[in-house]
Amino acid sequence: MSGIAYETVIGLEVHVELSTLTKVFCGCPTEFGAEENTHCCPVCTGMPGALPVINKKAVEYAVLAGLATHCEINRYSKMDRKNYFYPDLPKAYQISQYDLPLCKSGFLEIETESGETKKIRLNRIHLEEDAGKLVHAPNHSGSLLDMNRCGVPLLEIVTEPDMRSAQEARSFLESIKKIMEYIQISDCKMEEGSMRCDVNLSVRPASSDALGIRTETKNLNSFRSITRVIESETARQVQLLEQGVPVVQATLHWDEDAGETSVLRLKEEAQDYRYFPDPDLAPIHVDDAWFAHIQSFLPELPEARRKRFIEQYKLPADAAALLTSDAALADYYEAAAETSQSNLTACHWITGELLRLLKEKEVTVSDSPIGPGALGQLIQFIDRGAISGSQAKEVFDIMASTGESPESIIRSRSLVQISDSGQLEEIAARVIQNNPKSVGDYLAGKEKAIGFLVGQMMKESKGKANPKLAGEILTRLMNPS
Ligand code: ADP
Ligand code: MG
Ligand code: ZN
Repeated sequence: MSGIAYETVIGLEVHVELSTLTKVFCGCPTEFGAEENTHCCPVCTGMPGALPVINKKAVEYAVLAGLATHCEINRYSKMDRKNYFYPDLPKAYQISQYDLPLCKSGFLEIETESGETKKIRLNRIHLEEDAGKLVHAPNHSGSLLDMNRCGVPLLEIVTEPDMRSAQEARSFLESIKKIMEYIQISDCKMEEGSMRCDVNLSVRPASSDALGIRTETKNLNSFRSITRVIESETARQVQLLEQGVPVVQATLHWDEDAGETSVLRLKEEAQDYRYFPDPDLAPIHVDDAWFAHIQSFLPELPEARRKRFIEQYKLPADAAALLTSDAALADYYEAAAETSQSNLTACHWITGELLRLLKEKEVTVSDSPIGPGALGQLIQFIDRGAISGSQAKEVFDIMASTGESPESIIRSRSLVQISDSGQLEEIAARVIQNNPKSVGDYLAGKEKAIGFLVGQMMKESKGKANPKLAGEILTRLMNPS
């Protein structure tokens, strides 16, 4: 070992499938999971003479993605043909964008491991079409082609080489995913392939400013494999440099089982693709009226919403980050806070019990068995002191399994907390009489003894006593003035 410290340099190309109802150049549905080769037509299967027509929604989604990531929008844009042969690409070219992408020069902010904010620059975002899917039969007996995915609209988001670790790459991807979900242009389901990522990586001596020679590992679809690729590729390249062997620029394939990369092809250059403007599609002009229309779809973005949650609802920073990590969860919170009229209690219940419940049931917040209005009502009962904390948990569990309203659960199971002081005094007197030792301890100055006595009152009342009032009454009865 030379003792030189190395730095990893990472640039990502992220592919995001757009959630338009139909494909980008034809009217076929984009829906995932349909029977093979049932969502196809002459256009998306590349039949001679078939003509593409651009999906306006896909253009709008691409522009929206650019607006949400501080990009400049190219109001004049066009589609280009990228020529290459692959069995899942029936036309033998992909319609993509070359020198006039819809969006360029943006950035996103991520949080680094040390808690600092770092800008990751975006080089461009362009619109293109997805390819089909090859299904390899067992024992290498052949490969089958499913063309349902041919022509599904894709965004390609290309970063500058600004990331320095797997953690930064992950943080960037999480941020992209969150933004795409907020603006509702993609579901970004990595496991269904609607978000995939190519990792470009080089290493260099930490003291150097020059970029090293990179490799590009294609088509990663989990955070775990992205992290593993970054670690293994860094180690491989550092080892080469240590041995004085130059890294060869190449496109790599990641083998998840073997945990190693292999060379797919030596890196092709742009000229290999013989890009040229697609003669079947008119240039795209986003005029002022259309641009303003697209801008009007831009919702409040995750960062802004997080800051507003801290300011408006006075939430702790970590809770605000957690609640805004998902637009649906943030919506849920705002609805529950409104019904309950209690920002902090709503935050407490959602980040605690509700998230626990969703995890246990393995459902998303949109499918929560308890809606935000119902949770808000439960919180009202808690805040009014009508039920105790432990009763509230019980009601919550019943709500989750039966869907009943908190009011009807509390009424039908006579869960209402005893806050009637006459009734509580009776119980307190009994508890004082039956526990002379604790009373003695308390009177001798052992403040803690009161906790035990309150506990006894809870037991006597089968958990229904209002613990705060119970404590007050005990104190009063034991300290006659
Ligand atoms: P290509 O079109 O050949 O893939 P680009 O210049 O568009 O090449 O770069 C693709 C990606 O590779 C970008 O995300 C970019 O940031 C990244 N990249 C370029 N050079 C390097 C490098 N030396 N090390 C790491 N990443 C790099
Ligand atoms: Mg590339
Ligand atoms: Zn089609």
